[in-house]
Amino acid sequence: MKLWAIRVPSTLAEDTRRLLLQAGIIHPQAQLRKDNGYILIPVKCKPDPEELAGLTGSKTGDNLIVIEAEFETRQKKPLLEDLLGFTPTFDVVGDIAIIDADDPEAPRIASALMEFRKSLNVVLGATSPVEGEFRTRKFMVLAGEDRTHTIHKEYGCRYKVDLAGAYFSGRLGTERQRVADTVKPGQCVVDLFAGVGPFSILIGRTVPGASVVAIDKNPAAVELLRENILLNKVDNVRAVEDDARHAAEKLQYQADHVIMNLPQSAREFLDSGIRVARDGGMVHFYDITPEDDLYRTSWELIQDAAMRQGRWVECLEKRIVRSYAPYQYNVCIEFLVVD
Ligand code: SAM
Repeated sequence: MKLWAIRVPSTLAEDTRRLLLQAGIIHPQAQLRKDNGYILIPVKCKPDPEELAGLTGSKTGDNLIVIEAEFETRQKKPLLEDLLGFTPTFDVVGDIAIIDADDPEAPRIASALMEFRKSLNVVLGATSPVEGEFRTRKFMVLAGEDRTHTIHKEYGCRYKVDLAGAYFSGRLGTERQRVADTVKPGQCVVDLFAGVGPFSILIGRTVPGASVVAIDKNPAAVELLRENILLNKVDNVRAVEDDARHAAEKLQYQADHVIMNLPQSAREFLDSGIRVARDGGMVHFYDITPEDDLYRTSWELIQDAAMRQGRWVECLEKRIVRSYAPYQYNVCIEFLVVD
């Protein structure tokens, strides 16, 4: 295609290109090209020479010539969507992508992901939902290396994860950071359902003087949690393999923050969560609720549990964390426990 262009000595080309780009006058569909020791920069319309000198500085402007020239259309990098003809749904944990194994397009999605996402080395197909007490899934390898373990990086922390053995979701990074931001230096945290440690380790690493007790009942999760404590060099996080209810009863002290991230059944542990919080302590309670009762029933259950222990609760915040299923949401209610 024939376009107006700025002809510039190659020694000045990069500076000029940057200035023209900032001014928004470079033609987006044409490719810069060489021309006998000069570079031709395609522009959207014929620039006024004075405007050009003003844009690029007089020194550079003296060397610039406005001409008309032929250009090739820039090759647009094809997207995953272009290849597949639709936008696939997938999760990423470390260098592993997870898709639904039942999707009839699963083999095509898997090979397209391997081709387009160079950071991926494995594509897993989930053959079950997140299920059971330990909230794990079953997988089959659809492409790449035959493994379910990886290292996931999030907010400056690294987590060793084995998706077949212990729960982990890369989608909760912002939520974990948000909770960590509520913890003040020197505070004490009990993470009742810690998994491989993403809430606990982030807090341990980023909140000066904080101390964290990270509890999980799944031995495979606790093994990874212990490895992650070492991997992230945090000496203020203590891993405990135990049932949350039992561990809460044994605790010798009460915490400034209690994290209850077991959305499917945290309601059953409300008595333990509230017991562990000190007077004025904050509980971060996660639940799965229907669209037409996002918080009401959960809040009633929280109040009932507090009352059983002769304590009060004061709601600080209620929010949707993410959608969970049609008409169902993963919500978080944060409340203070008061004597
Ligand atoms: N907080 C972690 C995260 O963000 O990755 C893990 C959350 S996962 C939804 C819930 C965790 O609770 C699982 O690791 C599971 O093994 C653990 N769990 C389930 N029942 C438990 C219990 N009774 N006591 C302690 N941990 C339990």
